[in-house]
Formats: sequence, structure tokens, C-alpha cells
Amino acid sequence: MTDTESQQFSFKAETKQLLNILAHSLYKDREVFLRELLSNASDALNRLRFEMVTNHNVLDPSAELKIHITADKDSRILTIQDTGIGMTRDEVIENLGTIAQSGARKFLDATRDQKVDFSQVIGQFGVGFYSVFMVAEWVRVTSHSFNPEAEAVSWFATGDDSYEIGPAEMSERGTKIEIKLKEDAAEFAEEYRVKNVIHKHSDYIGFPIYVGESKEAVNKQTSLWRTSKQEVTEEQYKEFYRQTTLDFEEPLTHIHMSTDAPVQLYALLFIPSKAERGIFSLRKDDGLKLYSRNILIDEYNKDLLPEYLRFVQGVVDSEDLPLNVSRETVQSSGLMPKLKKVLTNQVIKELENLAKNNAEKYHTFWQEFGVYLKQGVAAAPADADSINPLLRFKTNLNPEAWSSLEEYVSRMKEGQKEIYYIVGEDPKSVLRSPHLDYFHSQGTEVLLLTGPMDSFMLMGLHKYKDFDLKNVAQADVDTSKKPKEETEAERMPESDFGGLVDQFKKVLGERVTDVRASNRLVQSVARLADADANTNPELQRVYKYLGKEYEIPKKVLELNPSHGILKNLLKLELGSELQNIIIEQIYDSALLVEGLHPDPSSIAPRVQQIIEAALTRKTG
Ligand code: ADP
Ligand code: MG
Repeated sequence: MTDTESQQFSFKAETKQLLNILAHSLYKDREVFLRELLSNASDALNRLRFEMVTNHNVLDPSAELKIHITADKDSRILTIQDTGIGMTRDEVIENLGTIAQSGARKFLDATRDQKVDFSQVIGQFGVGFYSVFMVAEWVRVTSHSFNPEAEAVSWFATGDDSYEIGPAEMSERGTKIEIKLKEDAAEFAEEYRVKNVIHKHSDYIGFPIYVGESKEAVNKQTSLWRTSKQEVTEEQYKEFYRQTTLDFEEPLTHIHMSTDAPVQLYALLFIPSKAERGIFSLRKDDGLKLYSRNILIDEYNKDLLPEYLRFVQGVVDSEDLPLNVSRETVQSSGLMPKLKKVLTNQVIKELENLAKNNAEKYHTFWQEFGVYLKQGVAAAPADADSINPLLRFKTNLNPEAWSSLEEYVSRMKEGQKEIYYIVGEDPKSVLRSPHLDYFHSQGTEVLLLTGPMDSFMLMGLHKYKDFDLKNVAQADVDTSKKPKEETEAERMPESDFGGLVDQFKKVLGERVTDVRASNRLVQSVARLADADANTNPELQRVYKYLGKEYEIPKKVLELNPSHGILKNLLKLELGSELQNIIIEQIYDSALLVEGLHPDPSSIAPRVQQIIEAALTRKTG
């Protein structure tokens, strides 16, 4: 083989498949091919600039770093030429022939999922170059490496199974891509159309793009986050988000800010609409991209926001950060805490605004990311004042809607001094809790805390404004106020009740610390109360979740002396098997509604015994 003649190479299987799809399908967003080629040109220019920092032995060292596009309507040829790093013959084969294998496979997988608008994301799979075959009859790449010893090379393909490599005439440094447009893609041979695509997709490329004879660059040449808000469209924000995350869902909202004091920064942050990263997500970790003067210095920086805001995506760029720094020096520069403070405040402010201006959207946010904020309440007490107003709750009186603490307080009854909550396993069963009997009967609102993170949150949430938060299970209630419409069921005689209490104690033994009468139960037979007012039921639950050695806490079993079940229980033979298993069942049921039962299914055999007993009585 000599370098003076062309040579044919075959594309690898996956690349062939990819090219076949690109060449023979009709896509509405074909214009993105230009974005991909311009992004490659920009990469090549960046790499050249980097090379020139240390290496002076470069072809055409004084040539302007730029991209030049020409469009010829008559021949339908579009040319994109850059003065970047260029490619040698081997590099052309490697980069445009072989290397895209795994990217092509992943991309093919991704496009099988119909939801994926592939034209938006093709560049992310390392196969962006091939998107040119959506519009090309043929493509010729001519390149001359920055290395003065290298020779120019040409690559030619029609989108079929093979490509040709051969020598080329090109004295200047860089890469030229000539595209013979398909007939139905002739629009891209029009300058105005080309400019329009540049504005839409490539305005932020950091090198000038010239079109035709004009000496004036078409693009803005600055990054999106450094562009002023007024100049950025909603669509550009969305596209930027898509490109950086590969999340196919639109973000819930974005935060675009720039400040000069106390620190200089530009930030473009996004709140995703889903907490879970999609399978194709480009983001493999939490954290923000940190730039210093437009240059990426950390891909996943976790020090810019508190942990409880780790779902936020985006870019932060600060002129105050020293350039060419290691992570360690960034850490020790003392700048990070300042940046973190500014950004945290801004994200919280944005969430407040969202809650105020678009409650529905905020509730969507809350459903996805509420647990993060709850975690924040527990983990970052210093931020409580700003996080607490963002919390949302279901309540016994409004079990379907989300209420803020502020709304709860505004609905509080006169004289109410505490914010009541109940902790339980799930929103439905907690409503049946005997602890709520009294509050239901009084029409008092109670927050329903049934999420796994709620017990943790309570460790940091003791007060809102002037109101302490109080667990209804432990709240002191004024039972002299009798429920209004409740017709007072008759209490069983004291002596009878005493006998029953003894039997409960005998059956339950060590499992309870005491059995006694309660005045606050209405519908419920019994409830479990803490023996000691200082016990912390939240902590018990936290232990249960953490899987720490967990024992059922010993509690006081309180009975409702007016309840029909207890009256009838008394009619059974004292100490009979049926009476005993019903006592067991009353205790187990109380544990269940408390969410403290260690083995709920163990109840089934006993329930069966009780059913059998009930049936024998009916039929016997
Ligand atoms: P990616 O840009 O993600 O690597 P592409 O398919 O867009 O994937 O490009 C493949 C490779 O071809 C690039 O990584 C680069 O090495 C090379 N390449 C493409 N265009 C140019 C160019 N204009 N100048 C130099 N190299 C280029
Ligand atoms: Mg690319």
C-alpha cells in the first residue's frame, strides 16, 4: 500500500446499522447535523489551543482559530472548515471509521426506546459525526494535522458499508468537511438557513463562525450561562438541559443567575422533574459542573450545594476561582462556602417562588423531592428556617391535599397552641389510629406523617414560628370537653372494668407496662400510650427503619370503658380461651395501627380462630 492511492475500508457492523438508519429514515430535526459538526470543530479548536500552550512546533501557528462555512446553492455543497487540531491518516481511520463502535451500539439501543428524540442526543453517544448522513449524499473530510510533519488525508463515504481513505491536497492546518446535500436537504445550502441553525443550536461556541464572505462572526461566542437572561429563550434552556443531562423529561424549572458580590459567579441550574436519573443519563453522580472562566474544572462538584439539594443539576462558573487548580486548592481557597451560600439561598428562593406562583407544579416537585428536604430538616438545622416553609403535609382534615405549615397555622382553632401530628405507616391506616379519636371528635387538624423520612425529619422539626410540634399520642388533651354530637355511651361499671383490666394484665404480662382506662377514646377500643412522657416515639421508629436491634417498646395499654366490644368481652367466661385470644388480638391491633408490629402476618391464625368462634356461636 502506498500513500498515493485510495484505499477502501469497511465500517464495522454496528456503524453500518447506524448509518443505514440515519440515511434512510426521515427525521424532522435533521438540522442538528450542523450542530454536531460545529461541536466537533469547536472541540478540535480547543484541543489545538491547549496544544499550543506547551508546543510551539505547530503548523500555521498564527492562523486565526475559527470556523468557516460556505454554502453553494447550485451544487448543493456545504463546506465546514476549521483551523483546529486536524487529523493524521491513522487518526481519521480511528475516529471516523472504527472507534464509534460502542457508542453506535448504545445509540441504537436508545433509539429503540420510542420516547427518545434521538436527534437531540446523538452527539452524546460519540457518534455525532455520523448524523451528517441524514442530509448527505456523500461526505468528504479533508484534514491536515497540526503536526508539521504530517500529510493531508481525505476520507470519503456515501453512507453505505465502506469508506475510502486517500491522500489530499491541503496545505493549511485543520479539517474541512464537504457535504453533498441530498435533494430534499437543499435548504442547508442556503446561507440564511445555515445562520438560523447556528443561532438556534451553536450560538455559544467559543470560536467565531463565519458564513460565506462575511467578516463578521454569526455566533455570540459565549456560553449560555454567561449570556444575559433576556437573551435566552425557554427552548434554549431546555436544549441545554437535555444536552448536559440526557434527561428526556423537561426540567421542572431553571435558575439562571449572575452575581458580583460577595462572590462573582454565573450559574445555570435546573430542577429535574424526576428524582431518578434515566438509564441513558449522562450524569453518573450528583454534583454540579464547576467552571472557572468558562473552563471545566470539576464535573461533579458536591460542595456547591448542601446535600439535601443534591438533586439540582447544572453549571456554576466563577471568575474568582483560580485557574488551573486542583480540587484540593479549590477546597482550601475559602471561596467554596461563599459560593455555596449564594447558590443555596437562590435555589430555596426559587422553590419558594414556585410554591407561591404555581402550587400544582410545586406539588409535583414535592412528591419527587420532598424526601430530600425532609432530610435537610434533620441534617441541616441551621437551614430550618428556610426549609420549613417548603414542607408539605397531608392532614386528617385534608387527607388528599398538600398543606404547608403556614396553611395549617392559619386554620388552627382559637386557643390551639400546638401543631399536632401523628406518625404512622401509611396515610390510610393512620387515619384509623385511636390517637386521633379525640382530635377527630374536636375537629382539630393533625398532620399525617407517614413517609419513611418523616421520623428523621421530626428529629429536627420541633417548632414552626411560635408553635411547638406535638405528637398526638403524647399530647395532653382536655377530656372535660366532650365531643359534641357524640351521644355519650355508657361506661361499664368500675368493678367490672377492674376485673377486665386484671385479665388483660394476666394475658399480656410483660408486654405492657400497665393497663388502664382512657377518657380520650371514642370509636377505638384501645390505644398504646407511652409509659413515660419523655420517650421519643420518633426515635423508636428511626431505629426500626435503620434496622437497629429493634424490640417492641413496652407501652401502656389504654382501654375505652364505654366500648361495646369490651362490654361484650366481659360477658365471656372469665379466663376462657376465646376471651384470651380476643385480648391478644386487641393488643396486636393496637400495635398494628401504631406501625410497630414486628410480624403482622402472624396475626392471621388468631383471626381465623376468632372467626371460627363467631361462626359457631351464630350457627350453634
Ligand atoms: P465525539 O465528538 O463525541 O467524539 P463524533 O462522532 O462527533 O464523536 O466525532 C468522532 C471523532 O472524530 C472526534 O472525537 C474527533 O476525534 C474526530 N473529529 C471529528 N470532527 C473533527 C474535526 N473537525 N477536527 C478534528 N477531529 C475531528
Ligand atoms: Mg462530536
